Amino acid sequence: MLKIAENVRLADKTSYRIGGPARYYVEPRSESGIVEACRFAADNGLPLFVLGNGSNVLISDAGFAGLVVNLSKYFSALSWDKTTAFVLSGTPLDDLAGEAAERGCAGIECLSGIPGTVGGAVVMNAGAFDADVSKTLRSVRVLKASALMIETIPVKDLNFGYRTSALKGGGDVVLSATFDFTSGDAAQLKSLRDDIIAKRRAKQPVDSPSCGSVFKRPPDGFAGTLVESCGLKGFRIGLAEVSEKHANFIINTGSAKAEDVRALIRHVQQAVFEKHGVLLEPEVIFLGEFREPLYKS
Ligand SMILES: Cc1cc2nc3c(=O)[nH]c(=O)nc-3n(C[C@H](O)[C@H](O)[C@H](O)COP(=O)(O)OP(=O)(O)OC[C@H]3O[C@@H](n4cnc5c(N)ncnc54)[C@H](O)[C@@H]3O)c2cc1C
Repeated sequence: MLKIAENVRLADKTSYRIGGPARYYVEPRSESGIVEACRFAADNGLPLFVLGNGSNVLISDAGFAGLVVNLSKYFSALSWDKTTAFVLSGTPLDDLAGEAAERGCAGIECLSGIPGTVGGAVVMNAGAFDADVSKTLRSVRVLKASALMIETIPVKDLNFGYRTSALKGGGDVVLSATFDFTSGDAAQLKSLRDDIIAKRRAKQPVDSPSCGSVFKRPPDGFAGTLVESCGLKGFRIGLAEVSEKHANFIINTGSAKAEDVRALIRHVQQAVFEKHGVLLEPEVIFLGEFREPLYKS
């Protein structure tokens, strides 16, 4: 029997450590549990939000008046057939990258250290160092939440782009993913993986609560460089701060409110637009109601 909890604090479930309560909240252990959760949402007319590791979301202070289905807690497993991996969507992406390197499977090592689940990484087409999830993904099994039907979708039908996919914002649930890697040298892949994790530690404020890069890369240049050129490193609204270490990160320096982060995002957008004529587009996903609108040029 699925245990659906009420009024669960979401701040503890996100890398930002920010967010009010979910009206309903569930951590399914199986596909049938996920189907049951979606049926509960449909029967009660509730909006549904699938949460992975919560490493790319800003949840409003008022929380979310629907059902949050968190797959990162119990819906995790990884199996292999030579260079092919079959992964449940709540599995940490970095576990997949780590096992792939150990086995001499190449193609995902550049995504080492990204703190999301495989489901979140597929939806966002997570990437780094010129690689992204779409490059090695073969297919995903998806629960169409509206029809409660499961289907397998090949990578060519997922409409992948920079930090986006056909699954983004669609409300469907990624259940599992199949990846095809190529054969590589395990020692080299492990060493590359170590280098990438060390680079992340050196360049990013990985020990402070954040959502990673707040803004997508603009067509020319880097968001962090534009933000830094406006003198905004260290700039604060409430307890939200533009990181001194990496200007495309906004960190929670203590008990920042979601509204602080949102106001800071808007402030940064406006400053960059006024100086460079570039409207930075947030990469972070917003959940719930916010008072502060985003900046419109
Ligand atoms: C320190 C730090 C560094 C980061 N570095 C990078 C980086 O280098 N590159 C990069 O791309 N990202 C980076 N990120 C952002 C983030 O880790 C990725 O976007 C990650 O893929 C999000 O996965 P998640 O499980 O945390 O998803 P969540 O944040 O929980 O959710 C993100 C979106 O995916 C949806 N979703 C999640 N799981 C499912 C599912 N199973 N089915 C359907 N929808 C789902 C959610 O509804 C939401 O819309 C970083 C974040 C942090 C905190």
